[in-house]
Amino acid sequence: MSTTATIPTSIKNFINGSFEQSHNETSNVISPLDGSVISSVPMSGYSDLDLAVNAAQKAYPAWSSKTLKERVQIFFRYRQLLEANIEELTKLVTLENGKTYSEAKAEVEKSIELCEFAVSMPQILTNEVQEVSSGVECRIDRKPLGVVASISPFNFPNMVPHWTVPNAIVLGNCMILKPSEIVPLSAVRMAELLKEAGLPDGVFNIVHGGKEIVEAICDHLDIKAVSFVGSTKVAKIVYKRATSTLKRCVALGGAKNHLIVLPDANPEMTANNVVASMSGCAGQRCMAAAVMVGVDKVDHIVERMIKEAKKIIPGDTLGSVISKEAKERIENYITEAEKAGAKVLVDGRNATVKGKDEGFYVGATIVDYVTPDMDIAKEEVFGPVISIIRAKDLDEALTIENNSGYGNAAAVFTQNGGFARKVIERASAGMIGVNIGVPVPREPFPFGGWNDSKFGVCDITGKSSIEFWTQNKKTSVKWNPEARTNWMS
Ligand code: NAD
Repeated sequence: MSTTATIPTSIKNFINGSFEQSHNETSNVISPLDGSVISSVPMSGYSDLDLAVNAAQKAYPAWSSKTLKERVQIFFRYRQLLEANIEELTKLVTLENGKTYSEAKAEVEKSIELCEFAVSMPQILTNEVQEVSSGVECRIDRKPLGVVASISPFNFPNMVPHWTVPNAIVLGNCMILKPSEIVPLSAVRMAELLKEAGLPDGVFNIVHGGKEIVEAICDHLDIKAVSFVGSTKVAKIVYKRATSTLKRCVALGGAKNHLIVLPDANPEMTANNVVASMSGCAGQRCMAAAVMVGVDKVDHIVERMIKEAKKIIPGDTLGSVISKEAKERIENYITEAEKAGAKVLVDGRNATVKGKDEGFYVGATIVDYVTPDMDIAKEEVFGPVISIIRAKDLDEALTIENNSGYGNAAAVFTQNGGFARKVIERASAGMIGVNIGVPVPREPFPFGGWNDSKFGVCDITGKSSIEFWTQNKKTSVKWNPEARTNWMS
């Protein structure tokens, strides 16, 4: 058990159970907490990927021929290791991503919950069998695909890899993970702990890097499926490129989540929820509230939101954003909205944290009287900023929500069941909240958006991921030759 984070000075790929040097150039890993360089990461290329794919292919026959019950045993042990090392894993997330301690800990706890779903697979995956004709049985078995890959973003360095790795591996696949090059440290510990849990060499591999390695994954003919989580721009590139080599692909993209607030909503609970949703993880989560659509008279709620937002302290109850560029981008959206006529009620621009002058901080920000044509209303800001758009009634609010190109989450705050029902029916998003600001469906319910927030058929977690990581084998069996029946009888 370890409570202090061990930071390798130079990160290596993890191939066939060992850390292997890439011969490509490296990129600095910077802690957004204070701008310091904490490690370096290789920007791997096709030859590094090929080594990983070969290792995974070699491991595949033995791994896939184990029973499901045997495979999950590793993840029972791994889950215990996550729990035993939660302090260290939490500190790593904070260091590389800039989240607060409690946010980082909640992230690792979610990874534990994801492992719990994976180890319950033998209870879920009871295959279908039916006597389809007299003496003839038809059955469906779910078989793994082979070597598969998972590409992750910077905002959840521990959790997002756990959306895919435990399920894909438990289901019999061998996996190549490509973590975000901005936050590669959590994945290194994941590899070490999976090895400690007894996962055979080659079943799980990591190839670090950026665009070049992602393109190599999409192009590699021996990789059968790719999951991607990141921005919509890259999700589209990955989906098109991976499917052009006839791979399965599910690619989750960015978000612009609308929270519709009605005048009858509980003021205190609503204000707390909206502010927590927009500022949690410094607004850098795909489920964050980005736009509050205030229907009719909601000033009494906005006033409480202002009070709540002012209590949030950068560097204490609010983490950093990921980079200097992110800070500049977020602050620019606020400035441009203000120039276009919006009113900044709480201003998080130019936030500083004592002793961390080189860190990247933006304070919680509320911008009111935003109009749907402004960039801040349409584009993903990905910072602790909420734009308030005013609407005269629920129909207008729904039109505003429906006009967003994204569709990850939407929520409604009201005490009226009829209004809530209307939003559930008409919001164009994959995950809906009623009086919940961050409506993440917990396991076993699957996670995934609509529209430009997801490309591909399946969701990425829960039961839907079983569909994604396996293929059906349909077998018809007859052991009664004396029965002179044809297959239809
Ligand atoms: P990103 O798209 O910049 O990077 C994601 C991954 O793609 C990284 O591993 C990166 O190395 C790689 N990549 C970057 N540019 C590439 C290119 N041109 N070609 C090929 N690969 C490339 O995303 P990010 O900034 O790391 O993460 C933030 C984004 O992820 C936000 O848009 C956020 O909404 C989204 N996100 C979505 C979900 C979801 O469930 N829908 C979850 C988490 C994050």
